Amino acid sequence: MTESAGTADLEMVCQKYEPVIGLETHVELSTNSKMFCGCPAHFGGEANSHVCPVCLGLPGSLPVANRAAIEATIRIGLAMNCQIASRARFARKNYFYPDMPKDFQISQYDEPLCTGGYLDIWVGEGANRDRFRVGITRVHLEEDTGKLTHGGETGRIHGASYSLVDYNRAGVPLVEIVTDPIVGAGERAPEVARGYVAEVRELMRALDVSDVRMEEGSLRCDVNVSLAPRGSSVWGQRTETKNVNSLRSVARAVRAEMTRQAAVLDSGGVIVQETRHFHEDTGETTGGRIKEEAEDYRYFPEPDLAVVAPDPVWVNELKANSPELPSAKLERLGAEWGFEYEQMREIANAEAVELVRETIELGVAPTDSRKWWMGELARRANESETDLLALGVSAKDVATVATAINNGELSDALGRQVFEGVIAGEGSADQVIKSRGLALVSDSGALQRVVDEAIAANADVAEKVKQGKVSAVGVIVGAVMKATQGKADAAAVRKLVMNSLGVSD
Ligand code: ADP
Ligand code: MG
Ligand code: ZN
Repeated sequence: MTESAGTADLEMVCQKYEPVIGLETHVELSTNSKMFCGCPAHFGGEANSHVCPVCLGLPGSLPVANRAAIEATIRIGLAMNCQIASRARFARKNYFYPDMPKDFQISQYDEPLCTGGYLDIWVGEGANRDRFRVGITRVHLEEDTGKLTHGGETGRIHGASYSLVDYNRAGVPLVEIVTDPIVGAGERAPEVARGYVAEVRELMRALDVSDVRMEEGSLRCDVNVSLAPRGSSVWGQRTETKNVNSLRSVARAVRAEMTRQAAVLDSGGVIVQETRHFHEDTGETTGGRIKEEAEDYRYFPEPDLAVVAPDPVWVNELKANSPELPSAKLERLGAEWGFEYEQMREIANAEAVELVRETIELGVAPTDSRKWWMGELARRANESETDLLALGVSAKDVATVATAINNGELSDALGRQVFEGVIAGEGSADQVIKSRGLALVSDSGALQRVVDEAIAANADVAEKVKQGKVSAVGVIVGAVMKATQGKADAAAVRKLVMNSLGVSD
């Protein structure tokens, strides 16, 4: 079977087959220290500098579980409506790979911390927007592995002439969230998968347990897909696609597997249970290794760690302090501010919810707050390939500008100049307004003089306007704006010119 066999359209695929998907999401926790030792858990650092006998698995060393990681896992489980085990246990998952110094990973197997929850997501837009409930099988805690870098021309393991290993990441707390098989999404399966991972990412941010950067690998996703003939009571064989590094890729990987599997099945082939690899460049998946079964890992309870028995009082406290779910929060704020859900999603995607909220709290109208953050400022962030938070503009700056415009002290154009100064590092909006001398000519006598001069200098145009060619007034307004170096409010100037000429609109 060739990789390019999958050309069938998604709609056609779903007329014949019912897709089932399952998502395994790994979230690297942003605790100070690693899961079972005191080494720093943060990203980066000189290779093999965040290591000790425990995370290197040296003989005689003993692990101790990180309480903050257990707490974060329970908070994730609670936010996903899971049962929190009164007794959970770590287990050894045995396999040999050079990124794992101990040759076993401490994970959780048959006694995970959290089980049986769900997460509600929204898919579709406008009238087609639906809530979709994704069942959560389990949320468990484990440790991350180290990182291999393959040297040689390919940069991949195949064809590498040497490989380097960095154990800084080995032992960093890792939470795995496994969904129940998701049935009934049909051709919306790619969108559901993407929406789910996006919601998980937002949720982790709301819980403040991880920086969830897919590019840096602190949020990773494996995508399981199978197809069964419509009406069949048995699910098809699944494949598990790894290396899915962005939300867009999650959707693409599901789509690619659906079309590929349909083509295989259509031509009488069979799907083998295997792990596959997603390629960002081609949008296709290629076959990997045949999937291990659980028994291949020879799981057994970790003898060096005590049973985890979370105090129910503590769990209840954590539950009481659960943050609002991200989609519910968008729903609520949208209603409060008078925005459509899609507009709220856009704000959320730009990571601007808090910025917009703070600005509104400083007294700015929601539409103005949104206009500046999602318009001019988003454009500038985009231009300099950074995000809104890193732009250096604060909610206070936006409030200063919006208020000044409201009070007739600035125009939109001058407001944009203020932000230009703030972004260039000239200080706060207040400071830029002062240092650049940005203020509308508010002395009406002074402005009237400029208007009179402009009318005199454009006598022929003025005559045309008087005779009814109102559109020509732009020439005179332009002359006034030029004379004031843009420091007049164009609408007010227009009114003044019209009045002076004795014409009305
Ligand atoms: P493994 O570690 O072997 O991948 P897990 O149980 O951790 O197994 O995860 C398997 C994932 O695949 C889960 O999300 C599960 O819901 C999903 N899944 C199970 N059966 C199917 C299937 N037939 N088609 C698609 N997804 C499936
Ligand atoms: Mg798994
Ligand atoms: Zn260590």
